[in-house]
Amino acid sequence: MKTSYSALNSFQTCPLRYKFSAIDKIRTGKKSAEAVFGSMIHSTMQFIHTGSFILPTQKEALNHFSQKWNSDVFDNEFRERAAFAQGIKIIQNYYKNNNPSDFQIVDIESRFSVDLKHNNEIHLISGIIDRIDKTDDGYEIIDYKTANKLPSQAHVEDNLQLLIYLLAFLKRYPQLAKTPEKIKLSLYFLKHDTKLSTVKNLDQLTQEKEKIFDLFDAIKNSDFEPQTSPLCDWCDFQEICPMWKHKFKKELTATDEEKNSIIRQYLELQTEAKNIRKEISALQKNLLEIMEGEKVDRLFGNGKIVAKTHRQTFKYNEEKLKEILKKKKLWDQVVKVNQLQLNKVLQVLPSKEKQAVEKLKELKSESYGLSIRQDKVS
Ligand code: SF4
Repeated sequence: MKTSYSALNSFQTCPLRYKFSAIDKIRTGKKSAEAVFGSMIHSTMQFIHTGSFILPTQKEALNHFSQKWNSDVFDNEFRERAAFAQGIKIIQNYYKNNNPSDFQIVDIESRFSVDLKHNNEIHLISGIIDRIDKTDDGYEIIDYKTANKLPSQAHVEDNLQLLIYLLAFLKRYPQLAKTPEKIKLSLYFLKHDTKLSTVKNLDQLTQEKEKIFDLFDAIKNSDFEPQTSPLCDWCDFQEICPMWKHKFKKELTATDEEKNSIIRQYLELQTEAKNIRKEISALQKNLLEIMEGEKVDRLFGNGKIVAKTHRQTFKYNEEKLKEILKKKKLWDQVVKVNQLQLNKVLQVLPSKEKQAVEKLKELKSESYGLSIRQDKVS
């Protein structure tokens, strides 16, 4: 398989997005406002650190950003102004907290390709590392991020991109292959002016490589289902994606009008049902208070009996319960696989066992429901 970190990442966030881009090779020629903003900031960061003797001043960096600015990608003036102000703030904060000439930069926008052997197949991953610095005792690999949300440290520890970058770096500097902990791996979240870093020792590196192999296997066996998330805002395929394309229909047909009318009725009834549920719960509270006051458990009226019911849930000391029931060979009858917990365990299970568990999976039942959320643009 010939792939890139961004393709692997797009599979992780949405298998369908990966299919559109890496398998069907669809090129929309369009870029979301968020993606274009990210490119403009990356270009400015590159500009800030490029120069033979004298590095650009903050003013020059701000000029560069303004010249690169592309207003066409924003769907309204308000969003455009907010993004531009955000870009200016990023550059100002960067200069406030960093002196660009303090860094010993080894490479910027550093292209790489690294080959990994898995199941007798050679996989080639290529990509671009934003920046590599020489530090006092090693190196630092830095990737700039323009995400709105600052993730947790755990996200950085578990980051596939940094892992791939480290493998690529070690291919270029094989003399450091036995001491990967000398290479600091950092994600620089520019909107928060915060750098989150991690290092990996040799054992961790060997173990974590399995994650990449798991991903190769997952791609091989995938049905490429769409997976909506806030990252859809960055996706160029919304117009052909089954989760979004209805929104982009230019001319509404009679059937579209009918669909809209059904959606409207559905939403109205949903709101009504929500209000009714609230009223029912208030009336339930009143009835229980009346029963409490009259010291009765049932009320009679309108030819009906309203009775108080009592529901309790319990938890048990699982170890002790298991001991008792196992002796009577009854433990298996009470143990059920908890899908939520199983999903968590699968994430840390080694590749071989994970595949074995996946093979045991059988579809038990299937149903469809509806969820409602606000469309940001309307
Ligand atoms: S729009 Fe969202 S769900 Fe559709 S392909 Fe892109 S990321 Fe996936």
